Amino acid sequence: MDRNNRLQLAQEKLKSIYGYDSFREGQRTIIEQILNGTDTIGIMPTGGGKSLCYQIPALVLPGVTLVVSPLISLMKDQVDALTELNVPATYLNSTLSASEERQRQNRIEEGYYKLIYVAPERLDQYQFQQLLSRINLSLIAIDEAHCMSQWGHDFRPSYLTIATWLEHLSQNPTILALTATATPEVCKDLQNFLHINERQVISTGFERTNLTFKVKKGINKKKFIDSYITSKKKESGIIYASTRKEVEQIFQHLSESGVSVVAYHGGMNEQERSLSQEAFIHDKVDLIIATNAFGMGIDKSNVRFVIHYNLPRTVEAYYQEAGRAGRDGEPSECVLLFSLQDVRTQAFLIEQSDRNAIRQEMEYKKLQQMTAFCHTERCLQQYILHYFGDDTNKTCGKCSNCVHTGEKVNKTREAQMVFSTVKRTRERFGKTIISQILVGSANQKLKQLQLTDVTTYGLLKTWSQKDVAEFIDILMAEDYLAPMGTTYPTIQLTEKAVQVLMGEQEVFVTETVTTVQREENDDVFEALRELRKEISTESRIPPYMIFS
Ligand code: ADP
Ligand code: MG
Ligand code: ZN
Repeated sequence: MDRNNRLQLAQEKLKSIYGYDSFREGQRTIIEQILNGTDTIGIMPTGGGKSLCYQIPALVLPGVTLVVSPLISLMKDQVDALTELNVPATYLNSTLSASEERQRQNRIEEGYYKLIYVAPERLDQYQFQQLLSRINLSLIAIDEAHCMSQWGHDFRPSYLTIATWLEHLSQNPTILALTATATPEVCKDLQNFLHINERQVISTGFERTNLTFKVKKGINKKKFIDSYITSKKKESGIIYASTRKEVEQIFQHLSESGVSVVAYHGGMNEQERSLSQEAFIHDKVDLIIATNAFGMGIDKSNVRFVIHYNLPRTVEAYYQEAGRAGRDGEPSECVLLFSLQDVRTQAFLIEQSDRNAIRQEMEYKKLQQMTAFCHTERCLQQYILHYFGDDTNKTCGKCSNCVHTGEKVNKTREAQMVFSTVKRTRERFGKTIISQILVGSANQKLKQLQLTDVTTYGLLKTWSQKDVAEFIDILMAEDYLAPMGTTYPTIQLTEKAVQVLMGEQEVFVTETVTTVQREENDDVFEALRELRKEISTESRIPPYMIFS
């Protein structure tokens, strides 16, 4: 069959089997490449329609399509859905009885199935390799391919074997790797592993125009949930919390107030979990409260909101979970409830993990970038797109930063105090010490280190230490300060901060609970007058001379 015929056939299958009129952006290009036998990396946002990128070619190509997929529950759902559409598909995994497995293997050899789903562990099994050598493989699709990369947020060692396994394969099927969360590093890794060059990477970008992102700070989370759920009556939503205990508590609280809700976490047995999942997917309940164990590969199109009760550890994880809202393209909301405690908890978990130092360092960095998302003044969608390497300057116009009603206030002087403190202590300390100096803390350690002598000591004494720490977070999110190192990162000034110190740039932040208006007392005023004088005379003093 020639190229055009194949494409036309693909188009027909789309209509006759799935009932869709046209391919989405990216789908057509990826499918075209696959039908031409070109190995491809496909990057599309969650809900973008990655499954069709291999399911349609599977129906057009002469041989079998092998789908490598990370989760057993996910395989079953996909195969059930395909079976309902009369597409011959099956899966092999450890949940099958010996006789069931034998039966499926026989049918595979008879050429009955067009699609076979397996977990990566299966590829190493001798018996399975033998089976594959007896059938004609047209396509190998690697779903959730970011699991192959150590730089991904969900690295799975079993995925590492895929690359070597492919190299030893006696046949030469086309390879398609799919993911929604590839940072530039992850994409490089995939290219190296699969020997795929730049031109064979098809990315539709990561933007989800139908999602509205919101970050809520300094709120009572329980109260927020109560009023939010009431306002969303009967709409379908997910609330993610970070621990089983927290899931149970929210679940308890909401069911007592009569909300139609189920819980889902790793402490429940498999049957309980699948009951919860089914109830949610089939709209028997409106809400599911879950840990991150829930959701990968779940295709529920009408989720109207995703709330993160706690901070996720990485932007990738956040975007993937939040992205489960609005798969049908309808307007949907993603709300993240921020508290400083959650950052500490996540940092503690990283510290306690038995990962090696390099890995821990990377995880701290990712956590820092996730925290910066909560403090940035930039458009939230844009922040995420930048994170994934898309340098757009477009703003979404509807996230909680784009439509913030709060006034922007000038915090240049306070920022200068922070920067001076950092500079005067020669960039040797982290957020805690810097904020202790500024609030004039009586902590003995400051005395011992002679930090009470720093000229900025106590300049922000009307602020709480927590407020200063959050202000520093904002300054980091806006690239004035850069964290260095890992467990106890020290803070360094960026070029932007130096410009602020020199009076060449001003700092505006949105008024929030974290930046309460400071009462100016005489001490502060005196030190500031000096500073203003120096800055207004435009003297090119080195930054560390300010406040002397
Ligand atoms: P993901 O990229 O997250 O794996 P899925 O493959 O699960 O996304 O698809 C998400 C949703 O989009 C599904 O409900 C699917 O049926 C739908 N979809 C995919 N392609 C199209 C299309 N061309 N037209 C309309 N809907 C589509
Ligand atoms: Mg998918
Ligand atoms: Zn925005």
